[in-house]
Amino acid sequence: MRIPFNRPSMAGNELRYVTEAFGNGHVSGDGEFTRRCHVLLEELFGVEKVLLTTSCTSALDLSALLLGVGPGDEVILPSFTFVSTANAFVLRGARPVFVDVRPDTLNLDEEQIERSLSPRTKVIVPVHYAGVACEMDRIREIARSAEAFVVEDNAHGLFGRYKGRALGTFGAFAAQSFHETKNISCGEGGALLINDRAFIERAEILREKGTDRSRFFRGQVDKYTWVDVGSSYLPSDLLAAVLLAQLEAREAIQARRRAIWEAYRGALEDWAVTVSARLPIVPDHCDQPYHLFYLLMPDRRARDAFIGHLKARGIGAVFHYLPLHLSPMGQRSGGRPGDCPVTEDVSDRLVRLPLFNDMTAGELEHVIAEVKTFREAD
Ligand SMILES: *Cc1c(COP(=O)(O)O)cnc(C)c1O
Repeated sequence: MRIPFNRPSMAGNELRYVTEAFGNGHVSGDGEFTRRCHVLLEELFGVEKVLLTTSCTSALDLSALLLGVGPGDEVILPSFTFVSTANAFVLRGARPVFVDVRPDTLNLDEEQIERSLSPRTKVIVPVHYAGVACEMDRIREIARSAEAFVVEDNAHGLFGRYKGRALGTFGAFAAQSFHETKNISCGEGGALLINDRAFIERAEILREKGTDRSRFFRGQVDKYTWVDVGSSYLPSDLLAAVLLAQLEAREAIQARRRAIWEAYRGALEDWAVTVSARLPIVPDHCDQPYHLFYLLMPDRRARDAFIGHLKARGIGAVFHYLPLHLSPMGQRSGGRPGDCPVTEDVSDRLVRLPLFNDMTAGELEHVIAEVKTFREAD
């Protein structure tokens, strides 16, 4: 039996909706399915405005553009994240300032933000790792006193909550991902969540090549023209059709992921002690969306041996982020070894187990059984 780390699957109505999109005679951006995704996501998040984008990366790009990030600005973000969290702001000329993560949740360590602030700090970007919330009360308080914006990289956190409130609703903007590896997917896709009404109109313009085409479609102007900078950030309605089908199946998807996650935790608790591994920590005030199941092995040697052990048995277990501050680009921004010791440590020790929406009971049992045959001496 071969079990990949991730396997994309259809949840139900994807092909029917794609066919309908062709029937509508509109498969470019901002068609009927895009509109329906917007309405559904605005309802689910309770936010002012949602705009589908071609990726989470492009939603982050839009955030940086909308906030007028530029040369001389600094952006605070964790080193333990995907490159796009940094790139969106670096692309505009800002300097990334990497802050370490907490050893428990692997989220931006809120108590280390203040010492990285400067008069140039423009944005703070929390990343909710595995969809477990960052300490948003403290982060928002720090941002307020520093007069910095908060942009949530919520790529992992769709349906996650912090003290009962949906992730994605805490910053000026949040960026969602519907990439193949995320809980809800259309292959490549994303969304920008806008929590501040003042940004809505300009967001629509920047997303539509700097034109007021959205106003034109609403009948507010009688022709559309070039009014601002911008690019093309809107996905095809075919992708929105796929996305809508997945979003409508969210309860079944989330229930299945929860069952897999809980099964891993229940079955591996005792084994983990025997190999000095630790399981994910989810604080009581965080509702997680079951995006990842990871293990922290005692050291890099054990982690690599464990990945090799599973690979030899046809199971795709994978490590995760390499510290951004030590990447060639990170070092060009001043990153040095030792800057973020927790990030450097957990990056070496973390491994993620297969977890995907149509994982069968047999596959799950098989992974658990093979994991348990790993002993520290291997
Ligand atoms: C997946 C991911 C992204 C990028 O998402 P895309 O939709 O592929 O652009 C950004 N940040 C984090 C934390 C991610 O996990």
